[in-house]
Amino acid sequence: MIPSVLPTYNRAPLSFVKGEGSWLIAEDGRRYLDLCAGIATDVLGHANPDLVAALTEQANALWHVSNLYTIPQQQKLADALVEATFADTVFFTNSGTEACELAVKMARKHFYEAGQPEKTGIITFAGAFHGRSSAGIAASGGDKMVKGFGPLLPGFTQVPWADFDAMKAAVNETTAAILVEPIAGEGGIKPLSDQQLKDLRAFCDENGLLLILDEVQCGMGRTGRLFAHEWAGIAPDIMMVAKGIGGGFPLGAVLATEAAASGMTAGTHGSTYGGNPLGCAVGLKVVEIVSDPAFLAEVNRKAGLLRQKLEGLVADHPDVFTEVRGNGLMLGLVCKPANTDVVKAGYDAGMLMAPAAENVIRLLPALNIGDAEIAETVALLDRTASVIEAKEPA
Ligand SMILES: *Cc1c(COP(=O)(O)O)cnc(C)c1O
Repeated sequence: MIPSVLPTYNRAPLSFVKGEGSWLIAEDGRRYLDLCAGIATDVLGHANPDLVAALTEQANALWHVSNLYTIPQQQKLADALVEATFADTVFFTNSGTEACELAVKMARKHFYEAGQPEKTGIITFAGAFHGRSSAGIAASGGDKMVKGFGPLLPGFTQVPWADFDAMKAAVNETTAAILVEPIAGEGGIKPLSDQQLKDLRAFCDENGLLLILDEVQCGMGRTGRLFAHEWAGIAPDIMMVAKGIGGGFPLGAVLATEAAASGMTAGTHGSTYGGNPLGCAVGLKVVEIVSDPAFLAEVNRKAGLLRQKLEGLVADHPDVFTEVRGNGLMLGLVCKPANTDVVKAGYDAGMLMAPAAENVIRLLPALNIGDAEIAETVALLDRTASVIEAKEPA
């Protein structure tokens, strides 16, 4: 008999009743160090007092009206994002996959309005993840995502991950945009280099293509800059944001330049809940805190500390971990045993991690994780690795 919750997830037999910063407390009272953080959403930890205050203040005043009216919280958050980024304009969604839908629509509409309606094609990298909507799965590709869900939304071409020659060869007169994650998250914590991003920007400019960056997972301070592309000194035309921007409250956004967004006039797109007062009140507080240079400097310092300790861990446990990869506090450990077994052993040790492709476990802690918790992370990983080694002697 089918479970009452549609069984699309392989869930761990763990449930939590409370969160405090980087810790989650299970039903049985056991405390877990949370290095999954809602898959990079809970950027300020659980039950952050500033976010609780922003949410409850708004909850007591007004939850939801409609985008038929002006929403001051939405206006403030859009202004803050325009101020802090390359963007001239913002549309709010409730999720990353909705941001993907709009990014694709916006790119197509841009060329349609420019008198080039044939330009509808979007080139992406295989192994990327752009969401689970019809546009999201067509953009992501891969059997696991698309098999049985056809016919897929037309116009998407995947080339092998970071294969820029294949990407260039795939461009033709119908290509509108290139869509990439600066760091693949679900795909196994694989960063594009600054040089690759610079070359990509130059290539898009030379060929009249829009550059769409998916910063749903790697954005919002995760790499130590507000957005990951800033490290390369480039800017996209369109950017997808979600996950961290809500600090655990459902919120997403598409940020764009005026030129890229020029086709999106009244009536061309909408969302009932997108940009609602609750989400935007929380998002505004998140952006205020995370965009502070002092906060980002701390993310960088902690990232350096964690990375250094993880390199030591890999050296100590070569039969369990083979490599650390990623940037900032978006780190992956490549595993020798099945990553899902390492995640399970982590549960036993009292820590939560997220698996990713390429047999990687992801460490995506709250960006305000403490130094003591970083030390605890490495101690728990060390214990986890030792338990695995004892079970499967090399
Ligand atoms: C999670 C994710 C998405 C999809 O976001 P949802 O909020 O789950 O719809 C899209 N792109 C990337 C890079 C993601 O990590």
